Amino acid sequence: MQRMWIDGQWTGSVSKKCFPIDNPATEEIIDEVPRANAQDADLAVESAAEAFGDWRGVPGIERAALMHDFATRLRGKAMAVARRLTLEGGKPLIENLDEVEWCAACFDYYGELARDQGGKVPSPVFRHQINFVRKEPYGVVVAIVPWNYPLLLLTWKLAPALAAGNTVVIKPSNETPLSTLMLAEDLGIFGKGVVNILTGFGTEVGDPLVVHPDVQLIAFTGSIATGKAISTAAAPHLKKLNLELGGNDPFIVCDDVDLEVAARGAVWAAFLNMGQVCTSGERFYVFERVYEEFTKKFVALAKKLRLGNPMGPDIDCGPLIREAHRKQIEARIEEAVSQGARVMCGGRRPPALKKGYFFEPTVLTNVSHKMSIMKSETFGPIAPIMPVKGIEEAVRLADDSEYGLGANIYTNNLEYAMYAMENVHAGTFWINDPLTDNDAAPFGGMRKSGIGRELGIEGLDAFREPKHVHMDYKIEAKPYWYPYRWSDLK
Ligand code: NAD
Repeated sequence: MQRMWIDGQWTGSVSKKCFPIDNPATEEIIDEVPRANAQDADLAVESAAEAFGDWRGVPGIERAALMHDFATRLRGKAMAVARRLTLEGGKPLIENLDEVEWCAACFDYYGELARDQGGKVPSPVFRHQINFVRKEPYGVVVAIVPWNYPLLLLTWKLAPALAAGNTVVIKPSNETPLSTLMLAEDLGIFGKGVVNILTGFGTEVGDPLVVHPDVQLIAFTGSIATGKAISTAAAPHLKKLNLELGGNDPFIVCDDVDLEVAARGAVWAAFLNMGQVCTSGERFYVFERVYEEFTKKFVALAKKLRLGNPMGPDIDCGPLIREAHRKQIEARIEEAVSQGARVMCGGRRPPALKKGYFFEPTVLTNVSHKMSIMKSETFGPIAPIMPVKGIEEAVRLADDSEYGLGANIYTNNLEYAMYAMENVHAGTFWINDPLTDNDAAPFGGMRKSGIGRELGIEGLDAFREPKHVHMDYKIEAKPYWYPYRWSDLK
């Protein structure tokens, strides 16, 4: 049985209740964690608020040293942490090793960035005046995290929040809290109460955290539905919000590319982590001249993907996160088929894998842009492909969406690439380069895919607010109109 991490020590929930965590690849219960409630939220926020007084004043160079120290600790236990991520979340071990390294690199990046970027010095409006803008931390920040990249999406909040001088209460997903708890004592190096971890469910502990009077900012990644619920709860309290929400990324394939290369990129975008990536390729628009050939290659590659226990070697895809999600995926395929879609491969549970929430990578054809499979997020291993006449139609359909997280194009034609880039709403636009990230550039969604950005300097500024300081180093009368008269002024 695990404990939570509050005020620099391990503790159970005030409720004394726990809940089980299962392994999605075997359906076995692997551990139990405390089921936190509003009282636990109070204790964690109190601890973070107390710690803020000191942490906010720690010089950037010291904060950076601690962040590098944490990154080193993380790298030192990378295999153990990756195994825990695989056990609770089902991603193949190799992908989780990658996730741990991204986290360490992100801590290194923000330690140095915050040290370098303390604010700015604007040009003054009077002689002997000095203006400077200090970027100050908000105070207590709540980080609410989903299950698909439990540590990476935590790090995109935690690293800049700490670097900026905030203290943090973490609410990991109720599906995947174990890897976060594994880092608790390492996070203790930042000081007692600087980072706190509460385990539990959204409505039971997430909600009380969102409305807590001493919480200044909520940094959330998750579904649009939860994002709306958090916005609604936070609005009467005028809380600052950073929301990273769902996507339904389009993927355009033009007729001037090596189709084998494009198909490999498309399969990677569609099925990495079983399509449970917020920026998975969710709908594919292929120039009609190469549609047949591309689809054939895509299906052949999708069929080759090896499903199995993600802890083992030679595995490309693990399970889905839970049975309810598998049922949703099945329902979406059923609905698309009832509207005329054709299943080219997959569309079923793999017969050889009796345990675990596995599902075969699925390619659908004969789809139309009107179908809900093309219109709303699936967050699973379904790739619907439809032909388009050319770049205008591809871009029009790609942009006809309420989402705006990411978008992809495969082309060698610069004009096509730039036309699509300019006309598709997307926080990230990939040209021949699907699903890559860069800590030094902003990540986030346009339209309903989010509010604000993570990563880059934008991701640091999300956790700081500016204070403009005016100073005159030579005190003398200025042309204020009171208490002077115009006639007094020379
Ligand atoms: P979710 O919205 O169900 O849950 C996310 C987190 O919110 C969990 O920790 C959950 O416990 C918590 N939560 C739920 N209700 C809450 C409430 N009322 N108050 C406070 N907290 C609450 O999402 P999920 O199923 O964990 O993740 C999948 C979704 O996340 C997909 O829609 C995906 O696109 C999105 N996502 C977005 C990004 C991005 O960067 N934009 C990245 C990854 C995942």
